[in-house]
Amino acid sequence: MSDRPVVTRIAPSPTGMMHIGTARTALFNWLYARHTGGKFLLRIEDTDRERSTAEAVQVIFDGLKWLGLEPDAEPVFQAERSVRHREAALELLARGGAYRCYMTPEELEVEREAARAEGRVIRSPWRDREGNYDESQPYVVRLKSPLEGETLIDDQVKGAVRFHNKDLDDLILLRSDGTPTYNLAVVVDDHDMGVTHVIRGDDHLSNAARQTLIYQGLGWDTPVWAHLPMIHGPDGKKLSKRHGAQAVSEFDDMGYLPEAMRNYLAKLGWGHGDDEIFDDAQAQAWFDIKDVVGAPARLDWDKLNHINNHYLRQADVDRLVDLAAKIHESRDRRIGQAQREILARTIPLVRDGAKTLLDLADLTVFALRERPLELSDKARGMLNEETRARLSRLRNGFSAAGDWSVPALEAALRAFAEAEGVGLGKFGPALRACLSGGSPAPDLAGALVAIGRDESLARIDDALSHAA
Ligand code: GLU
Repeated sequence: MSDRPVVTRIAPSPTGMMHIGTARTALFNWLYARHTGGKFLLRIEDTDRERSTAEAVQVIFDGLKWLGLEPDAEPVFQAERSVRHREAALELLARGGAYRCYMTPEELEVEREAARAEGRVIRSPWRDREGNYDESQPYVVRLKSPLEGETLIDDQVKGAVRFHNKDLDDLILLRSDGTPTYNLAVVVDDHDMGVTHVIRGDDHLSNAARQTLIYQGLGWDTPVWAHLPMIHGPDGKKLSKRHGAQAVSEFDDMGYLPEAMRNYLAKLGWGHGDDEIFDDAQAQAWFDIKDVVGAPARLDWDKLNHINNHYLRQADVDRLVDLAAKIHESRDRRIGQAQREILARTIPLVRDGAKTLLDLADLTVFALRERPLELSDKARGMLNEETRARLSRLRNGFSAAGDWSVPALEAALRAFAEAEGVGLGKFGPALRACLSGGSPAPDLAGALVAIGRDESLARIDDALSHAA
């Protein structure tokens, strides 16, 4: 196995949502493929025809695309491969590694009861019957599992995990209607796709034992196994709705950037020393499946926010303008070219304080508001006669200001306060209220630059023209 180029895969079942655990599994498969110069493939496990709607499949494509984890080849659809799955089962039959079981549902029920009473797995009397099958009767095809010994899963994450073969029943490969079962389909698909490393959630660990027996029956090499621990909520319990989010799309909706998600998810079960922030190239260079830890990882919102803030501060402003514009539009704020320009001026001034894109959008509202701004009672209270007169003098000074930049405006505000013989505190809060109408805004010079000269002057005029 080790001399073949690495092929990993993600094999989600379309359920209508892409769980964050599936995203992390995809990421680890992608990282390992990139680390080794191998390939990362996608298989849609769509054998549950009722759940596997086109929309549910699209959710997976969209999730992977958003995360930037697109596969290196066209996806494989498991449901399209049932003929091949059946062929493999028949091959196993021919090799003597499987048998036809004609137990009726009633007989199966009796055996199930007996097995339960005796504390053993069910066994079929057809296992050792030779020939003389009545193929007109319904039958299932079962794997002829070894009755003794053990099956060893040499897992890259969990270590050596042993399963007693006597505890593994002869699993059904083909149902009586001829359709393949899940474990058969997975083995045949992984084999045919050339998958060398099966990296997936540890809820599939016992399937690895069953699947190993199918590989052995067919005379195929088993892949390298790596079963990843679950992602838990901050309280250590299984991740669920009440922890805030579990679907990839929810993290998108909450305003996390895909590169922040990749960085953060990589840290859920893996890490590079104490490094908090690393980019894709570093993660790809450093990632090894052997370094994944076996204990469940906990979702930590503070860490995710911290990492997201880092990427928001680094991101290209035009891209953030697009993303913030979408959020504003979803809140019914019209964003045209003029508003985009305002966003482009405002975002660099406020993004340090944003944990998410939603925060970023909130922090730009002050600059996008439409005149006349509604003033709060508090703001109105600040606008006494003295302050009005002062703001009016300030406004006239502003209209003559040559340079509308943060340093120039900071200097102008300081100079004005000095000339007036007062501290900035005497008129700053009132000016801020006139400019932002109470929405969060950066410091005064920043707010003035974000809003722009003409609009800033107009907002001050509006406020001063209000009846005192
Ligand atoms: N379809 C399975 C799931 O969504 C994954 C199977 C596998 O990775 O082998 O849990």
